[in-house]
Amino acid sequence: MIIGNVGLDSSAKIAFQSHAHTDHFVSGEVIFATKATKFLSHLRKGGFYREIEFGKTFYLGDFKARLYPAGHMLGSAGIKLWLENGTLFYTGDTKWFKLRTAEKSRFPRADFLIIEATFGVPHFTFPTPREAEKKLIAFVEEAFERGKRPVLYVNQMGKAQEVMKILDLHGYTVKASREMVKVARVYSKFGVSFGNISEDGEVVLRSYRSPRVENSLSPWELTVSGFGELKLSNHADFWELVRIVERVKPERVFTVYGFAEEFARILNGIGYESVAIESTTTFSGGCSFFNQTF
Ligand SMILES: [Zn+2]
Repeated sequence: MIIGNVGLDSSAKIAFQSHAHTDHFVSGEVIFATKATKFLSHLRKGGFYREIEFGKTFYLGDFKARLYPAGHMLGSAGIKLWLENGTLFYTGDTKWFKLRTAEKSRFPRADFLIIEATFGVPHFTFPTPREAEKKLIAFVEEAFERGKRPVLYVNQMGKAQEVMKILDLHGYTVKASREMVKVARVYSKFGVSFGNISEDGEVVLRSYRSPRVENSLSPWELTVSGFGELKLSNHADFWELVRIVERVKPERVFTVYGFAEEFARILNGIGYESVAIESTTTFSGGCSFFNQTF
């Protein structure tokens, strides 16, 4: 969306990019992002990035701003903006619980909140990352006990590295795609290292977009995703989203992505004045929009 003259995960002359997933890529004369987001984005695209550290005050166009770790993947950030009539926090994609390969998320108080709603209905109740990790390892161990080779389908950036790290900690080697290994190399630059990547790794990681293996190597297959079979998600589930809203304590909430309409309805029901918006929304009046009544 565009706030005044700056873009939040939207292309504009001055833009903020919350993280390095392609659906959040932006273009602009200057793209503000964390250093990790810049390095990871540069694996797939160009662009002039200005590196911003978490917690440091800077100016995004005319607005005073500060980044907070979003916990969604390495380098992912939410942004707080100081508008004329109050403060605004935009979460980007976010996670309440700590993942092994992402910074621990932090959420500031703000008057207005724009929050992702990818999993914004109670149907999406996930195990904690540690519980999901136990299930993942149990699956892998059972496959080996039965003489099968486990194949895990994952998003190549973010989820693949989280799964690699978990398997590393439990003593398993992985056979990963070239893209996953490239991303892992960037993670290593930021202190998240992997000692278990091997051409003939025990556990096979494949892109969740690739077709399932049939009959080869007798694999045991599992999709690791909030939408998949093993719900190790790098997005907040419904209850994590509610916790985030309660932490930010906003006067008004704007929900975006996924189940935005449904999540806004639920929040209205529990006392938070909320409305769903499109990710392409332009708040052309700048800040006055946030004080309008719906
Ligand atoms: Zn994302």
